[in-house]
Amino acid sequence: MKLLEDKILSEGLALSESVLKVDSFVNHQVDPFLMREIGRDFASHYKDVHITKVLTIESSGIAPAVFTAYELGVPMIILKKQTSKILKDHILQTNITSFTKGTSYELTLSKDYVDDKDTVLIIDDFLANGEAAMGAIRLALMAGAKIAGIGILIEKSFQKGRQRILDAGYEVYSQARVAKLGKDLIEFVRE
Ligand code: 5GP
Repeated sequence: MKLLEDKILSEGLALSESVLKVDSFVNHQVDPFLMREIGRDFASHYKDVHITKVLTIESSGIAPAVFTAYELGVPMIILKKQTSKILKDHILQTNITSFTKGTSYELTLSKDYVDDKDTVLIIDDFLANGEAAMGAIRLALMAGAKIAGIGILIEKSFQKGRQRILDAGYEVYSQARVAKLGKDLIEFVRE
């Protein structure tokens, strides 16, 4: 998606050969106009697969996921990183190791919001090693849902996430695919 690639080139910062900082439009400050276009692009890509829910992981997936859900006319569900006091029973959980923080957490979904009648689209901001996406897939499957695909804003194609998801039998649609990061360098995959 050209708009996202242009934004990454103008405002993204390669902090190292493996970490891209996009705090000015995705992770800290959010660009709502860009998010609306991101939502339209995902909705157009997935328009024929009868999605009933959009799932995302808190917190940076929420903005693009809610615009996508709005465009598809379906609810958006936030997979929680911390179990709230209210979400005590009736929950599904799976353990995830965070790429950026090096810590692990229990990703949590209430059984109230996804079931075997659902076809879900999973949206996340980044795809690195695929830990978060694979966790979201596990939770959706535990709830009995079908998975239409995994929608990613920024895929770091030099890491193994895409291959893991494809090997597990799911489709990945990434709006920007970063081939290489380095000092003053951000290169995209060109098909
Ligand atoms: P994975 O689970 O695929 O290894 O990593 C994806 C998660 O880690 C995303 O949800 C995102 O929050 C975070 N992440 C991974 N790589 C980056 C990166 O280069 N920059 C930022 N801002 N977040 C990242």
